[in-house]
Amino acid sequence: MYDRFLKISYVPILTRCVLLLSVLVMILAINGDWSVTVVNLLNEYGIIQRLYLDQILQSTLISERMKNFSYFWITTMCFGYGIYFIIGFFFHWYYYVRQKDQPEKWKCQPKRWLSTELELDEIKAGSVSLFVTNTWSSLMECYVHNGGYCTVYFNWDEYGIVWWILQFPIIFISIDYGMYWVHRIFHVPYLYTRFHKMHHKYKQPTAFSATAIHPVEISCLQMVMFVPLFTVPTHWSIFRIILLYLYYHGIITHSGINFKAKWWQPWQSNTVFHDNHHQYFHVNFGFNFEWWDKLHNTYRKPDRVYNENIFYGKGKPIDEINQEELENEIMERKTESITAHDDNFNPFLIDSSRSK
Ligand SMILES: [Zn+2]
Ligand SMILES: [Zn+2]
Repeated sequence: MYDRFLKISYVPILTRCVLLLSVLVMILAINGDWSVTVVNLLNEYGIIQRLYLDQILQSTLISERMKNFSYFWITTMCFGYGIYFIIGFFFHWYYYVRQKDQPEKWKCQPKRWLSTELELDEIKAGSVSLFVTNTWSSLMECYVHNGGYCTVYFNWDEYGIVWWILQFPIIFISIDYGMYWVHRIFHVPYLYTRFHKMHHKYKQPTAFSATAIHPVEISCLQMVMFVPLFTVPTHWSIFRIILLYLYYHGIITHSGINFKAKWWQPWQSNTVFHDNHHQYFHVNFGFNFEWWDKLHNTYRKPDRVYNENIFYGKGKPIDEINQEELENEIMERKTESITAHDDNFNPFLIDSSRSK
């Protein structure tokens, strides 16, 4: 046990501490006290007249917009971490511990397991990123509730019942499409090696991998989610349901458990869709819908080979790979569970006679 801790590289931990500290400073700074201090100092030294300074302070309204921030922050933290650890540990206990000896029944990659080191690593990285995302969410929630400029409304009939119903699919689909592009852009070599690669350490993802994403990248994904708040009339409760849905399915798609789309949500991809993304890297960039990958030709195809060195989502024609690569590919595909695919049929299996 102690050996494991001795082997941990302390540089990333230090980076995370700095990150945590800067977010804490940000929280302390954002409550508005600093702006009052600056105004008083400027007035003290006669740099700008008091009346003019008061007008500046009023126009920024930082103190007003961040009223009761601690209440929003604590609530968001409790919800964010609560959902992450309750679902994460439940899946861990129910599948990874209780049914460890029969993985072919439930696991997307039954022959392979994430090492204990990587499991601990993803929980640590996931918790740090959750801290960042929860802080962004609470800042946004506080700003909206304190009357900051946005297109959010609270009375459900303000824009009519038709829009109240339609906004759910429209906003949800738009966010999912935006997230597809952010994810795909982070797979460009420059961004992949600097940011996104850390999420791909987990070749057999678990529920805890869902937020084990670089803070810079996860913040970009979150900004996509916030776009509707400033562009279309968005009912606050509908928006919260959409965020909760995205979060819940983010955990499900990373679980490594062969969940399939249910009849009441036929648009939802099977878990194996994103599990394949972790196993084969630059392919299947979507999250909830498979449409975007089909539309942009980044959907996994049986006659293409994908790995960490083949970028841009198009793969390499299987006819162009050498004998050794073909054998590796056959082995890799055999590690996928048949039951994880639709109709319990794995369309990617290659007849090993082909390699002879
Ligand atoms: Zn990725
Ligand atoms: Zn992922």
